[in-house]
Amino acid sequence: MSNIFDKCQKDVALAPYTTLKIGGNAEYFFEPESVKELADFIKNKPQNINITILGEGSNSLISDNGISGIVIHLNKLSNVKVDGVNVIAEAGATSGKTARSAREASLTGIEFLCGIPGSIGGALAMNAGAYGYQTADNLISVDVITNTGKLKTMQPDEIGFEYRKTGLPNGWIFISATFKLKHGNKDDIRNQMRKINKERVTSQPINMPSSGSWFKNSDEHGSAWKITEKAGCRGMRVGNAQVSEKHANFFVNLGGATSADMEELSQKVENKIKEKLGIKMHREVKALGKNSE
Ligand SMILES: Cc1cc2nc3c(=O)[nH]c(=O)nc-3n(C[C@H](O)[C@H](O)[C@H](O)COP(=O)(O)OP(=O)(O)OC[C@H]3O[C@@H](n4cnc5c(N)ncnc54)[C@H](O)[C@@H]3O)c2cc1C
Repeated sequence: MSNIFDKCQKDVALAPYTTLKIGGNAEYFFEPESVKELADFIKNKPQNINITILGEGSNSLISDNGISGIVIHLNKLSNVKVDGVNVIAEAGATSGKTARSAREASLTGIEFLCGIPGSIGGALAMNAGAYGYQTADNLISVDVITNTGKLKTMQPDEIGFEYRKTGLPNGWIFISATFKLKHGNKDDIRNQMRKINKERVTSQPINMPSSGSWFKNSDEHGSAWKITEKAGCRGMRVGNAQVSEKHANFFVNLGGATSADMEELSQKVENKIKEKLGIKMHREVKALGKNSE
């Protein structure tokens, strides 16, 4: 294989690849055209180089100083296939496209994914969920590439799915997911998806740059938005980073906010919650890049 860096673009601005519209540059940026190309790339990369996988960037806060090493963006691996009651989605397919493909085949079980604005790889990595459902629920297998470039099919119980996290070893990459669904009525599925999207428009600032829920909910203390609200954090602001007026667990970019603004806002909110309610919050949004490498 030719030098792997020949396949990369250099110094690519990452903010446009995120829903927060924040972040510096990727030192190297690679968009594989096929699973084989990605596996070969991983096999041939220098061992100690930093690799970061980016899906739709809807749960990521990228450092203002960018990301060193290689950022791999999987958007070209975006096929979704329906085979009987199984829906097989590549990691770069959006969750929305996957949910709509199921609907078109009158298959029910992943309607909740229609409102989650990320990729299937990101949905797996975050075990994304809503309305009582999570990505792992209807999953029967996933394909991954290991950190040495080997392709492997795994069962969900080998992945260690938990609330908004998995036990996938560091450096392994989700390549595709197979969901086993049930036959349903297409109109009912469509209506359910419309209902979900309507609820989101009503309750979330979806027309503003954000990364969805900032903090995780807690078994012990309940919904993160209720905690944030109770501590009086709605509307708090650092520069142009703000705790949304519409949803107290969404941090929004009012325009030109930096990753440093978001970090400072988060710290202030965390401190206020700790001080007022004695609760330690845990972030759902992933910090990617130089400050967290
Ligand atoms: C308006 C809005 C609403 C949202 N609502 C919800 C919701 O209801 N429920 C919910 O759970 N989330 C929600 N989110 C958060 C986000 O959409 C989900 O977590 C989504 O699944 C992330 O996917 P992504 O492709 O954007 O991930 P990214 O942000 O690109 O990546 C997230 C993490 O996953 C890793 N990753 C991505 N792809 C792979 C891969 N192929 N293999 C290994 N690791 C990978 C990244 O390295 C990173 O650590 C919302 C976000 C927004 C902006």
